[in-house]
Amino acid sequence: MILPELDLEPAEPVEPWMDDAACLGKDVNLFVREQGDNYTVARSVCSGCRVKEQCLAFAERTGTKAGMFGGLSPEERYERRLEREGRSHYSAGIPDIPGLFEESTANLARTYKVHPRTITRWRQLVREAS
Ligand code: SF4
Repeated sequence: MILPELDLEPAEPVEPWMDDAACLGKDVNLFVREQGDNYTVARSVCSGCRVKEQCLAFAERTGTKAGMFGGLSPEERYERRLEREGRSHYSAGIPDIPGLFEESTANLARTYKVHPRTITRWRQLVREAS
């Protein structure tokens, strides 16, 4: 189970449903994205998890920004929140950039013809808003 602060081994599950988490005992690093990875293994584990809904609700309730929860990445949870609030990336002041967290800063800056610091700022805005 991935906790918001990424404590690796909680002594007690924070909530009872966590006892049934399919990720219990799995390598926590699989649920935190590495550069270029798209949570491939984590998605597979989450897809068969009996407590996916509770997990997603937990992440949304606690405002967890890092890692995979309920089968959704932080960016996907952010998109879901915008959708629920009837907003879009554009109305939130953040450009909709595919690969914002997967692509290198230099590549994105070249593609969108902006300073690399702008890419860093966009990532920061998405993290803060999610
Ligand atoms: S949905 Fe994924 S992250 Fe959440 S408890 Fe299940 S396996 Fe773990």
